[in-house]
Amino acid sequence: MCGIIGAVSQRNIANILLEGLLRLEYRGYDSAGLAIIDQLGKFNRFRCLGKVQKLIDTTQNKNLKGIIGLAHTRWATHGAPSEINAHPHLSEHIVIVHNGIIENHEKLRKELLSYGYIFSSETDTEVIAHLFHLKQKQHGGSLLEVVFQTIREIRGSFGIVVMDKSNPSTLVAARIGSPLVIGCGVDENFIASDQIALLSIANSFIHLEEGDVAEISYDKINIFNVIGNIVNRNEIKSYVHYDITSKGKYRHHMQKEIYEQPVAIKNTLKGRCKDKEIDLSELGVNMNFLKNIKHVQIIACGTSYNSGMVSRYWFESLANIPCDVEIASEFRYRKLQVRKNSLLIVLSQSGETADTLAALRLSKKLNYIGSLAICNVLHSSIVRESDLYLTTKSGIEIGVASTKTFSTQLIVLLMLVIKLGSLNGMNLEVQHSIIKAIQILPFRIEQVLARDHIIEEIAKDFFNKNHALFIGRGDHYPIAMEGALKLKEISYIHAEAYAAGELKHGPLALIDNKMPVIVIAPNNELLRKLKCNIEEIRTRGGLLYIFTDQNTNFKNELNMKIIQLPYIENVTAPIFYTIPLQLLSYYVAVIKHRNIDQPRNLAKSVTVE
Ligand code: GLU
Repeated sequence: MCGIIGAVSQRNIANILLEGLLRLEYRGYDSAGLAIIDQLGKFNRFRCLGKVQKLIDTTQNKNLKGIIGLAHTRWATHGAPSEINAHPHLSEHIVIVHNGIIENHEKLRKELLSYGYIFSSETDTEVIAHLFHLKQKQHGGSLLEVVFQTIREIRGSFGIVVMDKSNPSTLVAARIGSPLVIGCGVDENFIASDQIALLSIANSFIHLEEGDVAEISYDKINIFNVIGNIVNRNEIKSYVHYDITSKGKYRHHMQKEIYEQPVAIKNTLKGRCKDKEIDLSELGVNMNFLKNIKHVQIIACGTSYNSGMVSRYWFESLANIPCDVEIASEFRYRKLQVRKNSLLIVLSQSGETADTLAALRLSKKLNYIGSLAICNVLHSSIVRESDLYLTTKSGIEIGVASTKTFSTQLIVLLMLVIKLGSLNGMNLEVQHSIIKAIQILPFRIEQVLARDHIIEEIAKDFFNKNHALFIGRGDHYPIAMEGALKLKEISYIHAEAYAAGELKHGPLALIDNKMPVIVIAPNNELLRKLKCNIEEIRTRGGLLYIFTDQNTNFKNELNMKIIQLPYIENVTAPIFYTIPLQLLSYYVAVIKHRNIDQPRNLAKSVTVE
């Protein structure tokens, strides 16, 4: 969701800004822009609706040069996606890029109109630009002082970076809710909303904390906390590599990421899953703390919510620990009753998901025994603000639709279930059998991936479909939810998931010979029940696609396609059955010519409420 990159250097930074925008593309956006000032103080701004490549094409023959500049990919919240609304925005000599939302923009706009300011866009961002200008005119002072004065008057959750054409040596950035990270270089410094934008040009990073304001010049970085005191923030080295052209032999990042799952799982297990025990000593807490946990409350959004839902079955059936799962945006606005000795677990791919982060912050005022983040980004806000964390080691995920971070979240959750279960009297034999199942899972997933061509063939049936139902039972009901979510996200086919037993309470009315019903039918104790639900659909002429084990003896019949999958242990079956559903969505989206890695209207890391 929306991206910022800023640079101040002694060399030409035009290409750094443009490449930074390309690196931010995966987050989802609708327009892009760049403003740059050269050594002689000459200012240039370019903006366009659509792709960063268009911006690159527009600037290509302009011999664009500059030593300080700002660039932005916008995900419109206020004002339609258009060139005029694209950032950077200006108010005379003030230049600004902004992520997030200014909640009191209407009131401020009215005030600024009364001072004679003329607005050229519909954005909330332009309000901040004019407010800066007004403050500077009224009180004078450095850009830093004006930033402090201005942010006191704006409400909402945002990240901003400002530069001043009349003093083109410094960028000032403020973080109120939206992440910002400084990249430290030699005789140059950078700022971005996502470390990925800076990975090729810096390997030393400072993550701004909530309320921080930073003054950045080519040879100096000053950081101030929310009350204006200068502070020291940790500088972190990172040698993560991300090459935007690195799809390798794959057509899309999503396809590559689906195929990376066996390795991502192995990496997530490394050092944690020993032969006979799970080692989570990295949590650094004493066993008594873990032993005291009597309830688990999981908070998440989207795909992470679905993985939380799967783990609920595991926590309760394997570890004997009651578990509730809630969508972060609901949790945060509800009057909550916290259970005794309840551990709050927050799940997020990016670690910046606005609602999940807000729920985590809210939980600190409540009576939880502690908070634990499961996240794919080590230095993210959610990781930093949780008491404990476990990272999924998936590597960077570029496709907006999560795949490998879903399966590795589940792996971490399952390891946690075993750990807490072992402290709660889980039988050793059971522990060992789960560990064995986890260890062999990457191999099992490779076997499913080898059946990719079968799923590609099935996907053709969905070319003309506008709706689909996904059903499952038990810990595969959330997998049906995940399957439906993936199909919606990248193919734009309307898909809903139901617990199979719920069909007769409503959705059965939708069944006819045009409605595809995707059934997740592993060979487990609920199969008998599921077969009855399948019959209910079959007798009403529904089109069945049954993903099942090769030993379940389903036969291909009229209006019924059986997708046979290799053997899988029951405990890891939910992770395993996710893979063919990811492939199905992927291939449906391919034949529908969708923008798979950047589906319309969606963003990778959802940093607005
Ligand atoms: N609210 C601002 C706008 O609509 C910023 C959106 C963004 O975060 O990209 O322009």
